[in-house]
Amino acid sequence: MTPLARLIADQIAKTGPISLAEYMALALGHPQHGYYCRRDPLGQAGDFTTAPEISQMFGEMIGLWLLSIWQSAGKPAPFRLVELGPGRGTLMADALRAARLDPGFAVAADLWLVETSPVLRAAQAERLPQAAWADTVTEVPTGPMLLVANEFFDALPVHQFLRSPEGWREVCVGLEDGHLTRGLSAPLPGPEDGEWREESPLADRIAEEIARRIATDGGAAMIVDYGYTTADRPPGPTLQALRNKAPADPLDTPGSADLTWLIDFDHLADRLSPLAAWRTTQGAFLASLGIGQRAAALARARPTEATTIADALERLTAPEHMGQLFKVLAALPHGQSPPAGFP
Ligand code: SAH
Repeated sequence: MTPLARLIADQIAKTGPISLAEYMALALGHPQHGYYCRRDPLGQAGDFTTAPEISQMFGEMIGLWLLSIWQSAGKPAPFRLVELGPGRGTLMADALRAARLDPGFAVAADLWLVETSPVLRAAQAERLPQAAWADTVTEVPTGPMLLVANEFFDALPVHQFLRSPEGWREVCVGLEDGHLTRGLSAPLPGPEDGEWREESPLADRIAEEIARRIATDGGAAMIVDYGYTTADRPPGPTLQALRNKAPADPLDTPGSADLTWLIDFDHLADRLSPLAAWRTTQGAFLASLGIGQRAAALARARPTEATTIADALERLTAPEHMGQLFKVLAALPHGQSPPAGFP
């Protein structure tokens, strides 16, 4: 048993089974042994790769989008430029470089990175020395805010419920012969639709805080994640573990694998009210912002990398790769025209 598995087992032995969300919070966020707190899991050699680590073009398109929102808002200065869960800081570094098209943007931007992992904070500081750090979005000073979150919400603790003839039961983590094992709580009252539910009160609270701030002080939020809308809602539960880019059992060796679930973008849009929300797929969003032209220009400038660039374009935009399963949501105060990149 790893030290973290032992710690979790001891806690369960003392106080009884814990919810999957409590388990996830420990497996990912435990200050000594949590997955994100111990190491940098990102990149080509890591457990999973994210869009900004695949190619600079991803962050560049986000940068152009942020710039267009800032310009149509009348170039507020200063404004809070906020990223939730910035990983290695790659997206933001690429976005700021692309936004140099208007030098005023970087001057006006007061950069805040919301990050709990000390290892990743250190990686971010290398790329973004001008940044300030916060543990939660609540700590970021008020004022107009442009916020980005890529693959952030899917790492937040989630509760899972299964419907049984007696009512909803929550998926719990307990102990059997000294091993962590799944169980079900006693029946709970709950809504009637569906067989499975996944709920993240933390994700809901963060979305509500973002909406409150942007509704009051102006700005926009861009949320990119692996997820679904009503049209492609999966039938079962979505929490999974990833180790060396392959699915693993979430209860096996806590702290050694990434845990991630699929975001319900309809629910997220609801939580972001009173903001207006637009949704599209990552493929459509990037294409509409001109990633194809950017790829062509990059390939002309670096002919020896042409194949790598074409490959990255394919991975980011093709429906069978990240183009369809990844969704992009933009949220802005009501009464504005649709932002760039959304139909
Ligand atoms: N956005 C990056 C990294 C995604 S991984 C990319 O696309 O490459 C998830 C990120 O969220 C990591 O940086 C992780 O440390 C951070 N994170 C996870 N839970 C968090 C929380 N509750 N508060 C702040 N950051 C968190």
